Amino acid sequence: MWRHRRPLALGFALMVLGRGAGLVLPASPKWLVDEVVGKGRHELLVPLVLAIAAATGVQAAASLALLRVVGTAAQRAIAEMRLRVQERVVRFPARYFASTQSGALISRIMTDTEGMRNLIGGGVLEFVGSLLTAVLAVGVLFYLHWQLTLVSLAVLVVFTGGMTYAFGRLHPLYRERGEITAQVTGRLAETLGGIQLVKAYGTEKREQRVFARGVHRLLRSIVRSIAAASATSAFATLALGVVGVLVVFLGGRALLGGRMTLGDLFTYVTFSALLVAPVMDIAGLTAQISEAFAGLDRIRELMQTPTEDDEDHGALPVPSLRGDLAFENVCFEYVAGVPVLRDVSFHAPAGTTTALVGSSGSGKSTLVSLVMAFNRPQRGRVLVDGHDLRELRLRDYRAQLGVVLQENFLFDGTVADNIRFARPDASREEIEEVARLANAEEFIRGFPQGYDTVVGERGIRLSGGQRQRIAIARALLADPRILILDEATSSLDSESEALIQEGLRRLRAGRTTFVIAHRLSTIRSAEQILVLEGGEVVERGTHAELMALGGRYRELHDRQYAWEHDLFVNPGEELHPETAVEEDEAGVAAG
Ligand code: ADP
Ligand code: MG
Repeated sequence: MWRHRRPLALGFALMVLGRGAGLVLPASPKWLVDEVVGKGRHELLVPLVLAIAAATGVQAAASLALLRVVGTAAQRAIAEMRLRVQERVVRFPARYFASTQSGALISRIMTDTEGMRNLIGGGVLEFVGSLLTAVLAVGVLFYLHWQLTLVSLAVLVVFTGGMTYAFGRLHPLYRERGEITAQVTGRLAETLGGIQLVKAYGTEKREQRVFARGVHRLLRSIVRSIAAASATSAFATLALGVVGVLVVFLGGRALLGGRMTLGDLFTYVTFSALLVAPVMDIAGLTAQISEAFAGLDRIRELMQTPTEDDEDHGALPVPSLRGDLAFENVCFEYVAGVPVLRDVSFHAPAGTTTALVGSSGSGKSTLVSLVMAFNRPQRGRVLVDGHDLRELRLRDYRAQLGVVLQENFLFDGTVADNIRFARPDASREEIEEVARLANAEEFIRGFPQGYDTVVGERGIRLSGGQRQRIAIARALLADPRILILDEATSSLDSESEALIQEGLRRLRAGRTTFVIAHRLSTIRSAEQILVLEGGEVVERGTHAELMALGGRYRELHDRQYAWEHDLFVNPGEELHPETAVEEDEAGVAAG
């Protein structure tokens, strides 16, 4: 709120002006009854009416200006808050996103920030204004009849206590509502993100049921908060009713006893009515403000979650890298007590290719996630050009990284946009050049819109091989020193793979590369092969050395080779183990 103090101060001034003008009308009966009627001063009637009209005009103008000033300020505050939260959230460490639904974060960034409107968009100003009017009204009431006012005030003190209690009750309810909204949104985003799977397995009904459960949970929570909020407003009505009864009864007696004029009583009644609006306002605003605070609570949690920048200890700037990488006794675990990498050490000299081989789950992707600084080792060090990766400024370091994964993410935009992702200022010529090198030119030119073809969410309108070649072009354009290829060709058919291999070869040239691949052709050419098993490097060397060793690599190689042989040499003959065995036996028998 302090950031928006100027519009708030202006709003405050307008609010005081409006409320002040609003006092003219309730103050008028005293003059009408005691002076104009009582003393017969007819000439005062017109000035009185004009004063009321002018005051009403001022009130309307002030209220108009107030709503515009604070309404705009509130929307600015929401926009600013969204920017700040988003800026922070995208800098959370990679592991944060492994345990948080993205839809839930979306709900926080978009919905919880709305609460700002209640604080800046008049809510708090109205609250203060209502308090001021109430205080003023009470002052006038004291002046008119202090004993009666004392009694009414006692009632209002009870009311204030009730409101404080209501605030305490509502706050957790609104908090819960926000949490449920985030969960339901998160799940909904997953359903829609995986819509093809949902349809393929015909699980629409189940998704619907899960969603319905969430929506009903939300409904119940909202109904509970409505119950609490409406109870506060009923309580307010009741409190005011009691005050009304007291005023009529005690005021009537004072009038009959001659301790009050008729005009005084009239004014007393209108001013006690003037208390009504603020008291009702305060009841309503209690709900709004607790809602705002509940949203801000959740945002504060996000703002207090450490980002990667906070974890950047040394923050050594990295102007340019040679790309010399080394692991020194690196141990890593995602979950305490479950080691995923055990004492891994190796050296990958600048410009060389290191292939990682091992069965699924052996820790290959985890190892490269440490190279990308997505995860940090619990023990040991990752060294880049001799510096501990922890000491390098992450942003600088990552600018020298390139990745091509099994499933490459394309953003909903054009082909050209996706290629220039890492370098938005790249020219069209540069984009076409890398597309050519990545063997992507032909298919891109085949699209009616060419480079301006929109790829759809996650690149859904392209085939796997096409997405992959765009990812390679993207990496070529980024021109990284360190390159990571995690199963970049694993999900492709052999024809697409052949097209991609060439692009990958060009991409790897001269860069420190980590490649995880199942196909032998890629692995054979690596300067160094690391065989991982259960998070340990069990063998290391070149293809020839490891083949000669006759260990785990040889075993994997032979199995893989047999499989590739079947696939390429005898297509269509696989998947008949029984006949294969019979043939074998027949062959043996015949031999
Ligand atoms: P690979 O790439 O060799 O197939 P990974 O490095 O992906 O294997 O996984 C190694 C092990 O770490 C697996 O047992 C996997 O279950 C576990 N693992 C991977 N990612 C996470 C994670 N985010 N949280 C917890 N465990 C994980
Ligand atoms: Mg993997």
